[in-house]
Amino acid sequence: MRGRIAIDKELCKGCKYCVMSCPKGVIVIEKQFNKMGYFPAHPEHPEKCTGCALCARMCPELAIEVWAESSRNKKA
Ligand code: SF4
Ligand code: SF4
Repeated sequence: MRGRIAIDKELCKGCKYCVMSCPKGVIVIEKQFNKMGYFPAHPEHPEKCTGCALCARMCPELAIEVWAESSRNKKA
C-alpha cells in the first residue's frame, strides 16, 4: 500500500507529533517560519508513505490529509 500526504503548513503549530508518530520517517520540521511564526511540518520523503494515517490522527490542528492508494502493478 502506498500513500499520499498533504500538510497545510499554515495550520501547523510545529508540535512534532506527526514527526514522532510516523514509522517511515516521512515528515520533517522546516527551518522557515509559517505565517503564525511556527516551524511547520513538511513531508520530506513522500515516496516512503504507506498511507497508515497515524500522523493525521495525531495532529491536533487537523493540518494533515492522507490518501491510501493500492498499487495496481503489484502482484499479490
Ligand atoms: S500516513 Fe503513515 S507513513 Fe504516511 S506520513 Fe503519515 S504516519 Fe507516515
Ligand atoms: S502534528 Fe500537526 S500541528 Fe503538529 S507538527 Fe505535525 S502537522 Fe504540525
